[in-house]
Amino acid sequence: MKYRIALVPGDGIGPEIVGAAVSVLKKTAAKYGHEFDFTEYPAGGCAIDLCGEPLPQSTIDGCLASDSVMLGAVGGPKWDSMPSALRPEKALLGLRKALGLYTNLRPAAIQPALADACVLRKDIAAKGFDLMIVRELTGGIYFGKRGRNEAGDAAYDTEAYSIAEIERVARRAFETARKRKGHLTSVDKANVLETSRLWRETVHRLGETEYPDVRLDDMYVDNAAMQIIRDPSFFDVIVTSNMFGDILSDEASQVTGSIGLLASASLGETSRGMYEPIHGSAPDIAGKDIANPIATVLSAAMMLRYSFDLAEEADYIEKTVNDVLSEGWRTADIKSPDDTTWLKGSEMKDKILEHL
Ligand code: NAD
Repeated sequence: MKYRIALVPGDGIGPEIVGAAVSVLKKTAAKYGHEFDFTEYPAGGCAIDLCGEPLPQSTIDGCLASDSVMLGAVGGPKWDSMPSALRPEKALLGLRKALGLYTNLRPAAIQPALADACVLRKDIAAKGFDLMIVRELTGGIYFGKRGRNEAGDAAYDTEAYSIAEIERVARRAFETARKRKGHLTSVDKANVLETSRLWRETVHRLGETEYPDVRLDDMYVDNAAMQIIRDPSFFDVIVTSNMFGDILSDEASQVTGSIGLLASASLGETSRGMYEPIHGSAPDIAGKDIANPIATVLSAAMMLRYSFDLAEEADYIEKTVNDVLSEGWRTADIKSPDDTTWLKGSEMKDKILEHL
């Protein structure tokens, strides 16, 4: 099969890690007889330098014309003092909006070979966990009406959700749970918030009518924040609103202890998605060949799974990364304090390619 992939490497370590993911995709394509066409587009700080704006229309058009988008990361100190309309981060929100991406999928799993890096108590880490957070991405309080009173001594933000917005993200979560262990936890604050009560009613109605095979339970967000640390193995798939998902997905990913390993996917109505590591542009290590490329390589695997329906190829990349880690190969960010040698970013990429 032939697929067009838009590459948006962005700033800092973005070009290094996207380059690594492209090499892995090319080798996977050759092995399975696919053709991936890559076209690169500027966004973020580099686009400000190049075109005077963080998200040029040509980048949006290029992404819309492709089958999927791979993003590195945007931002850096060079552009921190720009006015808010010209901040590199505008590119992220702009791309999500232009591509209609209303769901964010973030896996957080403990790799057996990296149990030592997990920040949880040893007995909890030893049980292992593999959870997927499905976060609503374009609604809720981040997009609601906000403002200040005339005196400027009071401010408000508004949380609003429609049934249609809840249904579309909940369907994605039920489908995801179906492909995993069949367990979905809907996280809300229904004891306080009216939007949460609508959220809960809607998710349950869908569960009963369309997904009776998926085990559904509810959890208040404060309890969920606690359970992710106390017993993460309880969870399979979590579905939640924009703000709760923002906070819980960072928490869940950080308990694995390794920012350089964590992938994400943003999805909408079509099969076109945007795939990126959860970390930022890491300006402190850019150009030093230290950045761990694994989060971006695993994001590429998610692209094959969710946008192209190439599950076997995605499994193959994920298994290869696991094999490399199981053999003990480490980059600086995931090495144990006793390790005296580790791989550079490009060497980790080569090691993965060697195993593919
Ligand atoms: P960051 O994720 O870039 O870096 C945090 C720490 O993790 C740094 O010490 C960095 O060196 C390290 N790190 C990150 N990725 C790594 C990797 N692959 N391998 C090894 N170490 C890695 O977060 P930050 O420092 O808060 O932000 C830096 C810039 O990135 C800012 O301009 C911020 O706005 C931007 N940012 C962009 C995105 C995005 O594009 N999606 C997300 C978060 C932050």
